[in-house]
Amino acid sequence: MATATETLPFQAETKELLHLMIHSLYTDKDIFLRELISNASDALDRLRFESITNNEILEGNDKFEIRLEADPKAKTLTISDSGIGMTREEVVSNLGTIARSGTGELRRRLAEKGAAADLPELIGQFGVGFYSAFMVADKVTVLTRKAGAAGAIEWESDGTGTYSIREAEKAERGTTITLHMKPADKDSGIEDYTDSWRISSIVKKHSDFIAYPILLKKEPDPKETPEDAPAAETPLNSMNPIWKRSPADVKPEQYNEFYKHISHDWTDPMKTIHFRAEGTFEYEALLYIPSRAPSDLYYVGAEAGLRLFAKRVMIMEKCEDLLPHYLRFIRGVVDASDLPLNISRQRLQQDIHIQRVRKRLTTKVLESFKELFEKEPDQYLTVWNEFGRAIKEGVGSDFENQSKLTPLLLYASSHDAEKLTSLKDYVGRMKPDQEQIYYLTGDSRKMIENSPHLEGLKAKDYEVLYMVDPVDELLVQHLQEFEGKKLKSVGKGTLELGTAEEKAEAEKELKSKEDEFKPLMEFLQKELGENVKQVRLSSRLTSSPACLVVEEYDYSPMLERVLQKNKGDFPKQKRVMELNPKHPLILRLQQRQAAAADDPLLANAAEVLLGLALLSEGSELPDPLKFNRAATDVLGLVV
Ligand code: ADP
Ligand code: MG
Repeated sequence: MATATETLPFQAETKELLHLMIHSLYTDKDIFLRELISNASDALDRLRFESITNNEILEGNDKFEIRLEADPKAKTLTISDSGIGMTREEVVSNLGTIARSGTGELRRRLAEKGAAADLPELIGQFGVGFYSAFMVADKVTVLTRKAGAAGAIEWESDGTGTYSIREAEKAERGTTITLHMKPADKDSGIEDYTDSWRISSIVKKHSDFIAYPILLKKEPDPKETPEDAPAAETPLNSMNPIWKRSPADVKPEQYNEFYKHISHDWTDPMKTIHFRAEGTFEYEALLYIPSRAPSDLYYVGAEAGLRLFAKRVMIMEKCEDLLPHYLRFIRGVVDASDLPLNISRQRLQQDIHIQRVRKRLTTKVLESFKELFEKEPDQYLTVWNEFGRAIKEGVGSDFENQSKLTPLLLYASSHDAEKLTSLKDYVGRMKPDQEQIYYLTGDSRKMIENSPHLEGLKAKDYEVLYMVDPVDELLVQHLQEFEGKKLKSVGKGTLELGTAEEKAEAEKELKSKEDEFKPLMEFLQKELGENVKQVRLSSRLTSSPACLVVEEYDYSPMLERVLQKNKGDFPKQKRVMELNPKHPLILRLQQRQAAAADDPLLANAAEVLLGLALLSEGSELPDPLKFNRAATDVLGLVV
C-alpha cells in the first residue's frame, strides 16, 4: 500500500461544481491566484498559531512564506507555502468534498437553471475557492506534508470526476500546488499565467495585504551569477496589514480584497467599519457587513467569529467572544496590542478588556445598521433580507441593545401590499383611538390576510403586522412594547377595539345576547370538547361565523405547528371558539337549537363550524373524515 496510487471519486456536488468551473464563462479568471494565495496564507496563520504552544512543530524552520514559480516552457505555475500542510484524511475531505454545512442547499442551487451564471456567487457562498484552479488549469497537483508528520501526500486531478492520491516524499513542510495551465485564450479570460509581469500584477491587485512575503522566483538571468539571485528577492506584496493603516490610506478596492480573503466570499461587502481604539487597551478593528448571508448562517455550527490578532500575530481564527452570537455573519479582524499570545479561550472569555471590546464592536455594528436604515434604505433592505432573522434573534437575546435593534425591524403589513414597514412608521399611522400595535403570525402573508381574526380590525381600518417567520414567535415573547405601545396578537385572548365608549357599547351588546346564546354555546362546548375549551361571543368578526383563538399566554397555532413538527409528542392545545352573534348562520343555529335541542342538524353543524374556523386560519383538520361526513349531511338537509 505504501506507494500505491488510489483513485477516488469527488463527492457529487463537488463534481458538478467542477464541471461548471471547467466550462465557466466567468471572465475574471485571475482570481484563482487570489484564492490559492489566500489558502496558503491561512495555512501559514494556522501553523504560526500552533507553534505558539508547540514550537517543535516548526522543525527548526521558522520561515513563513509563499513562493511562486512559473515555467513558461512547461506551462506550469507553482504556489508553495511553508504552512501547516495536510494529512491524507485532510486532503480527502478538503479537496474532495464540500465540508461546510449546507450542501443540501448547494445541491438545490446547482440543479437550478442558470447555476452556471451564478458560479462565482456559489463558489464564494459555499467557500470552495480551491476548485477555482480548474478554471485555468487542466491538471492540478497538490504535494503536501503536514507540519510535524513524516510522510507527504500527492493529490492530482484533471477535475473531471475523480482524483488520485498517493503517499509521497517532501523535504519541507507545507503545500506545493502545481497548475498545468490551459492555453491562454483571451475570449474566455485565460491569460498567460506563466508570465512574471502578469503574476506580479495580479498579486499586487488582489493579494497585497497578505501578511507573509509572496516571492516570485526570478527567471534565470544569464548575466547574473547564481549567488546573486537570493539577495535580489523582494516580496511582490507590501505586507502591511490593512487594519494597521489609517483609513484615509486604504482604497475601497483594498478593503474589498481583504474582505474576500478573510470571508471566502467573492462578493464585495456592503459596508466596512475600520477604527482604532486608544486608551488602556488599544486595538484596531476592521469589520465588514457582507452583502449576502453565508449558506450556513442558520445552521448549527455556522461559521462565526472574528480573527483575533495580538500585535499582528493571529491568535485565534474564529474568536466568537468579540461579538454576540446573533452578529455571527460579521467578518473581520481585531488586533490588540496587549494580549498574551497564548491566552486560553476561557481566559479570553472572562477578560474584562475583551468584554469591553465586544460591547464597543456591537455598538459600532448596530450604528452602521442604523445609518444604512436611515440613509440608504435600499441597501438596508438587502441587509434585512439577508440577515433579518439574525437581527430578530438579537431582539430576543441582547436585551441591553434591544432599543437599538427594534427600530431595525421590518414587517409586511396590511398597510401596503409589497413594501415592508418599520414599527416606527406603523406607530406613526396608528388611528387616534388605537392603543396597541396589532400583529398576527402565520405561515404566509396570504393566509394571514384571509384570516377571520382580522375582520374587526379591517372594519376599523387598523393596520396589522403580518409575521410570517417562525422566529417572530420568539421575538414577540421578548418584545412587549414599542415606543410605549403594547404589541398585541390578534389571534390571542379577547380583542376590544375602538374608543372607550365604543368598547363599552360592544361589551354591553355582547352581554345582552349572552342569555339568548347560552344554550347554543353550551351545546357547542360539549360537542366540540375535544378541541375547544371554551365558547364565547365576540365582536371581532364581521363576515365569518366563528373563529378560534388561544388565550393570551398560550402558543399560537403557528408555533404549535413548529413545536409539533420538531417534537412529535407535543400536546395539542385546546382553543377558544368565538362566535359572531350577528352572523345569519349563528343566528339560525341558535333558533333551531332553541326550537329543538335534539335537532340532528346541530351536531353536524358544530363539526362543520369547527372545520371552517380551522381551515380559515391555515390549520389542519383534526379529523378530515369526520368533517367530510358532517359537511355532506348538512348539505343533504338543505339541497
Ligand atoms: P476555504 O478556503 O474557504 O476553506 P477552499 O476550497 O479554498 O475553501 O479550501 C478548502 C480547504 O482545503 C481549506 O479550508 C484548507 O483546509 C485546505 N487547504 C487548501 N489549500 C491549502 C494549503 N495551501 N495548505 C493547507 N490546507 C489547504
Ligand atoms: Mg480558500
